[in-house]
Amino acid sequence: MADVPADLEAVLKDAHLPALMTALVQMTGDLGWLKPEWTPVYNPLSRGDPGLPEEEQAKIRKQAAAAIAEYLAGKPLQMPNPPLDVLRKQMDFVGGAPIPEQYVDFLVDELVLKGRSTKEPHFDTPRLKEAARKLNVLVIGAGMSGLLTGIRLSQAGVPFEIVDKNPDVGGTWFENSYPGCRVDNSNHMYSYSFEPSHEWPQHFSPQPVLLEYFRGIAAKYDLKTHIRFETLVESLTWDEAKGVWRAQLKGKDGKTETVEARAVVTAVGQLNQPRMPDIEGLASFAGPAFHSAEWRHDVELAGKRVGVIGTGASAYQFVPEIAPQVAHLTVFQRNPPWGLPVPHYHEDVPEGMKWTLEHVPFYDKWYRFWLFWMTTEGFLPMVKTDPTWNGPPTAVGPDNAMLREMAVASYQAQLADRPDLLDKVTPQYPIGGKRAVLDNGVWLGALKRPNVELVTDKVAKITPKGVVTADGQEREFDVLIYGTGFQASNFLSFLKVKGRGGRDLHDTWGGDARAYLGMTLPGFPNFFMIYGPNTNIVVNGSIIFFSECAVRYIVGAVKLLAETGAQAMEPKQAVFDDFNRRVDEANAGWAWGSPNVSSWYKNSFGRVSQNWPFGLIDYWRATLAPNPDDFVLEREREPVA
Ligand code: NAP
Repeated sequence: MADVPADLEAVLKDAHLPALMTALVQMTGDLGWLKPEWTPVYNPLSRGDPGLPEEEQAKIRKQAAAAIAEYLAGKPLQMPNPPLDVLRKQMDFVGGAPIPEQYVDFLVDELVLKGRSTKEPHFDTPRLKEAARKLNVLVIGAGMSGLLTGIRLSQAGVPFEIVDKNPDVGGTWFENSYPGCRVDNSNHMYSYSFEPSHEWPQHFSPQPVLLEYFRGIAAKYDLKTHIRFETLVESLTWDEAKGVWRAQLKGKDGKTETVEARAVVTAVGQLNQPRMPDIEGLASFAGPAFHSAEWRHDVELAGKRVGVIGTGASAYQFVPEIAPQVAHLTVFQRNPPWGLPVPHYHEDVPEGMKWTLEHVPFYDKWYRFWLFWMTTEGFLPMVKTDPTWNGPPTAVGPDNAMLREMAVASYQAQLADRPDLLDKVTPQYPIGGKRAVLDNGVWLGALKRPNVELVTDKVAKITPKGVVTADGQEREFDVLIYGTGFQASNFLSFLKVKGRGGRDLHDTWGGDARAYLGMTLPGFPNFFMIYGPNTNIVVNGSIIFFSECAVRYIVGAVKLLAETGAQAMEPKQAVFDDFNRRVDEANAGWAWGSPNVSSWYKNSFGRVSQNWPFGLIDYWRATLAPNPDDFVLEREREPVA
């Protein structure tokens, strides 16, 4: 037990009060912490201010400090595992309003209370364990999803190997090391549900911190012994007779090797192939030129004339970092990003909050729960297309128009001294059409600097000296940086995949990648994708949640193979077609599906190939376990009893 801080009430000033009161129910067994008049106000944009007068908050903190002191002095937890009716009351309280019944099992799962997670694999019987041991899985990628897959497969007792092209774990958090790179989801939610960290230094921590977190996970779960680094999986070929995938691997030394696996899981993300723009003369630039995801740390920017092409989420983070160093910075913008006000985007987690996370049992869970519920469906109505909307195409409905007004007001306030910039930085597409960025003022602050110029004329060509815009003006640079995004809709473009009967994956897709639940497709047995087609989220939640659901489903599929003795499984064509029809219909109903928006969410056919168009709860339910009726199972032997 920790010592009680002398100033515990002051320490608790940094805590999220609704989450603290909710946790205290479990510590004290007293439901009196959930007084109706203490219920916080529901607001997806708030930071959890309970909306109570300061004297009332002080009174609550005083009582809380007394309860915590008793606990730290040795008093046992009074209700560590509350019954469902109490959990329900806790949820309604911290959420600020009664939570609809259909969310309850989903939210209980996300809380990860002891013995209550659906995401932990259970391969219970000795025969099932034995059958699982005979399977083996090849995982491509050692980033957030690949490590998670490794954890779950090892918990299930299924042999696996992870192959990654990089020399370390971390995936996107290894590759993107540009200045200012940080997570744009609160870290207390952007972390595995079963691996909270009480040490996040900031609410949205910088990339090196994220990388350390994933390194720590790999060490804790002893995953490195399963990982082959600096190795590329070049091709996969389904061997019909043996019911295995044959994977050709290429090591750093150029040597190739073939390995076999009963199932393959791709865990390579949607944003792992940098996209250089198709601009005339691109290769002719004489100075250093690089993409944000391949940052050249050896190139000195101080005192240089630097040109940046692109103003997406990456440029939005690195431009404010480099602007003070360079002699002059020119930012070439095609479409501006929408920034949503998040004043604490760069703030440290206060020490009192860290103390409470570490020492008050269940506080971390309820704080995460609050973050999760606020973003689960909280924001979605604001980016929903209203079919009756007859306002301007800069919004998709009245809520969306209201959000726009709020964001514009924030831009106006920030640009009171530079009204000339306002039109340039205000997007003409609806909020939610592209990934919105978190605005704490540093972006517009950078654009206002005397050494920074924002150019909105079209880039016409690149020359050895610099960039020529459509008006014929040439600007000269020492360094060019491309913040031009990724080849997101070219799923698995690095990988040749030959499925059943030699069917080629990329020919099958024809540039329009689709999958059932983002994971499987007919003709490609035992082939599973994490963060595959139509599993990206735009405004609600963290992608780690999606990976946890997908991995649960994939491990469930492996369990199905072990249980049934089937050699192979693939989704039925009708199931796949029906799912994709529903996805396309639903995607049209959101801002990102609007015909007025072009973004990386859409492929070259204009189809939204990246995004999940339903709620988080729908993905959670759909991925609880594979429904055997959705699949063609190829039998090999008698099922396991
Ligand atoms: P992006 O959002 O696709 O942005 C690319 C930028 O390059 C856009 O401004 C685009 O303009 C511009 N562009 C592309 N081709 C161009 C051309 N030929 N001429 C001029 N401009 C051109 O890429 P990103 O910034 O790397 O972000 C990709 C995604 O990664 C994000 O949406 C987000 O999901 C994720 N991300 C997350 C974080 C985080 O905070 N955790 C940070 C970075 C990235 P248009 O808008 O006109 O196409």
